[in-house]
Amino acid sequence: MIKIDHLVKNYGSFCAVDDISFEIGQGEIVGLLGPNGAGKSTTMNILTGYLSSTFGSVEINGLNILDNPLEAKKLIGYLPEQPPLYPDMTVEEYLNFTYDLKGCTLNREKHIEEICDIVKIKDVFKRLIGNLSKGYRQRVGIAQALVGNPEVIIFDEPTVGLDPKQIIEIRNLIRTLGKKHTVILSTHILQEVQAVCDRIIIINKGKIVADERTENISRVVEN
Ligand code: ADP
Ligand code: MG
Repeated sequence: MIKIDHLVKNYGSFCAVDDISFEIGQGEIVGLLGPNGAGKSTTMNILTGYLSSTFGSVEINGLNILDNPLEAKKLIGYLPEQPPLYPDMTVEEYLNFTYDLKGCTLNREKHIEEICDIVKIKDVFKRLIGNLSKGYRQRVGIAQALVGNPEVIIFDEPTVGLDPKQIIEIRNLIRTLGKKHTVILSTHILQEVQAVCDRIIIINKGKIVADERTENISRVVEN
C-alpha cells in the first residue's frame, strides 16, 4: 500500500529525515512516535506529496508520489499539524469547497452527509468554523481528510491541544476509521499510539529506532 524507500530530507545543511524506509500494508493503523523535532511532520509532508524529499522515494499503491502526484494524492486524505481550515466559512461551505477542490465525483450531498455522520459534526454543519471549539475544529479537519473516500488517511498530531474528553473521542474516531482505511498518525505520546495503533514506528533525530507491533513495544521502550 505505502512504500517509503531511503527517504532523506535536508533543510540546508541540517538533516531532518535521515534514511527512513518502511512499508505499510492495507488496513494497518500505524503510529509514528517520537519527540518534538524527530522528523515526523517532515516525513508526513513528504509522504503526502506536500514537500519533496532530498533523496529516496514514496509509493502509494505502486504510484510514485512525484511521478503521478494527482493519482497518488487521490488515495490519501491528510490532516496536517495545522488543519487547513477557513474560519470565515461554515462547515457546510468548507466541506463543499473541499469537495470541489479535490474534484470529487461521489454523490455530493450523500457523501458529505455520511462524513458528517462519521465524525459527528452534523449539529454544527451551518456554523462558522471560527466559532467552533478546538475539538469540533479538529473533527472538521478530519472531515476534510475523508472527502473523496481515500484509502489512506494521515493524521499529524491529531490530539494536540485537546482536552482529555476530546482526546478520547478523537482516538475512538481514529480507531473507527481504521476499520475501513489504512491510517498513519504521528504523536509524541506513547499512550496514544498504544491506545490506537497496531504497529509503532519510533523516530528519533530523523532515524527509525524501532518498528514493532504495539503489543511488543513496551519491551523496546523499557530497554
Ligand atoms: P516533528 O514533527 O517530529 O516534531 P519536524 O519534521 O517538524 O519534527 O522537524 C524535524 C526537524 O527539522 C526539526 O529540528 C525542525 O526544527 C526542522 N525543520 C522542520 N521544518 C524546517 C524548515 N522548513 N526549515 C528548517 N528546518 C526545519
Ligand atoms: Mg510535527
